Amino acid sequence: ENGGQDAKNLRVKLVLLGDSGVGKSCIVLRFVRGQFDPTSKVTVGASFLSQTIALQDSTTVKFEIWDTAGQERYAALAPLYYRGAAVAVIVYDITSPESFSKAQFWVKELQKHGSPDIVMALVGNKADLLEKREVAVQDGTEYAEKNGMFFIETSAKTADNINELFEEIAKRLPRPAV
Ligand code: GDP
Ligand code: MG
Repeated sequence: ENGGQDAKNLRVKLVLLGDSGVGKSCIVLRFVRGQFDPTSKVTVGASFLSQTIALQDSTTVKFEIWDTAGQERYAALAPLYYRGAAVAVIVYDITSPESFSKAQFWVKELQKHGSPDIVMALVGNKADLLEKREVAVQDGTEYAEKNGMFFIETSAKTADNINELFEEIAKRLPRPAV
């Protein structure tokens, strides 16, 4: 046994990084439970959730999702959190340029200290708040392209692009040799 890992069934550690308040926990809850709780002001309890998705080629990917309980405030703790992660989802809020800068900080941090073959996704969340947008789609697209990352805008509130985010990540995972 290989920890449940074979060519058809992958199991991967996924971490979320980004400023507090950008919607990391809401993205996870939307993906795993199909829920959005607008009243939750702080990170929602669970720091570990898992969800399995099936791809069209009949392979499955089990995401073991590590959501921070606010460690994002302490950059020094981050390496403990993203160690061994196969996937990093770096989230900003499209209404917050500061959160976009912070996302770029996390990208650089992972390029320096993350696993060399880590799959990184850049996510502009709160895409439902169009009238408050302060980060252009093009800024996200261009930054992601330059850094070899996948980019998508999501809304945990409306569920827009949440499943697509995880499906695209799954497709980009390196497959173990049979
Ligand atoms: P975290 O600190 O990154 O985990 O952020 P949370 O998931 O706790 O979300 C922070 C706040 O943003 C909460 O008040 C959420 O209701 C709100 N929020 C999260 N995602 C969205 C979204 O897609 N759209 C809108 N309008 N609000 C969101
Ligand atoms: Mg949170």
